[in-house]
Amino acid sequence: MSFKSGFVSIIGKPNVGKSTLLNALLGQKISIITPKAQTTRHRIKGILNNPNYQIVFSDTPGIIEPKYKLQGSMMKFVNDSLQDCDLVVFVTDFLDRNRDEQLLERLNMIESPMLCIINKIDEHDADGIMEQVNFWKDKVKNFKEIVPISAANNFNVDLLLSLILEYIPVGPAFYSEDQITDKSERFIVSEMIREKILLYYKEEIPYSVQVEIESFKDEPKLLSIEATIYVMRASQRQILIGKGGIAIKNLGIASRRAIEQFFGKQVFLKTFVKVKEDWRNNNKALKDWGYDEH
Ligand code: GDP
Ligand code: MG
Repeated sequence: MSFKSGFVSIIGKPNVGKSTLLNALLGQKISIITPKAQTTRHRIKGILNNPNYQIVFSDTPGIIEPKYKLQGSMMKFVNDSLQDCDLVVFVTDFLDRNRDEQLLERLNMIESPMLCIINKIDEHDADGIMEQVNFWKDKVKNFKEIVPISAANNFNVDLLLSLILEYIPVGPAFYSEDQITDKSERFIVSEMIREKILLYYKEEIPYSVQVEIESFKDEPKLLSIEATIYVMRASQRQILIGKGGIAIKNLGIASRRAIEQFFGKQVFLKTFVKVKEDWRNNNKALKDWGYDEH
């Protein structure tokens, strides 16, 4: 068999399970997952290496109508990922049909081959699943296949992978075979901290933070990391730190554990919290933080 290699874009509304699916396909957690919408802000590539193929998946932020500049940039990541791929994997759960017509319009405009993945079938019975399949068959004409899966339970993920492979062309690998993502270790660490912020803080806090890794020292037995968490207002800084510093301490512990698990070694993590007024609309800050990297 000739070696195959290609690009697959995973798209869909927020919260349908795109990042969960990417991690299931890779068998490794690359992209952060939380119950909150807009967890993923960037286009993150996850690389699946096998002796016979290399598939480069792009996880993207959920499709939304942008309300501030950061979200505009997030949607550009989605559109860019559609332009240079061999296959689009559109992920939906059981809610999209009650959402907007615009989504259907956009899907019908995509020219690359497309699979429709109905996720979270663990929460529904056979009739409900069939109803979804028929809905999508009727509404979007260019789906090659409609596949019900449960990304969280790894159900039908292997089947999906074999379908994906049919659309991957013969060709040499694009990345070295030991590479699992295009993002740096620093990026992964900052995302792990952001994941814990999404889980532990309420309302606008998670959407107001940016995590920067100031230093990343990989010593033989210890990984030493310093991270700054930027917020938009002084009041948010107070909330992040909490009474007597208890909230930031808990955040540090949970983040450290996740980082230790990923890298398989002991971690020393130091965090700082700083205010950067309204950074989400600040072009320079967005550029510096990689939301404008095209
Ligand atoms: P994304 O915004 O599309 O990337 O979605 P995430 O991967 O972050 O997942 C959003 C939420 O859906 C998380 O709480 C996941 O645990 C949950 N989820 C993902 N896949 C499944 C699934 O197969 N079944 C169920 N029940 N929940 C899932
Ligand atoms: Mg995501």
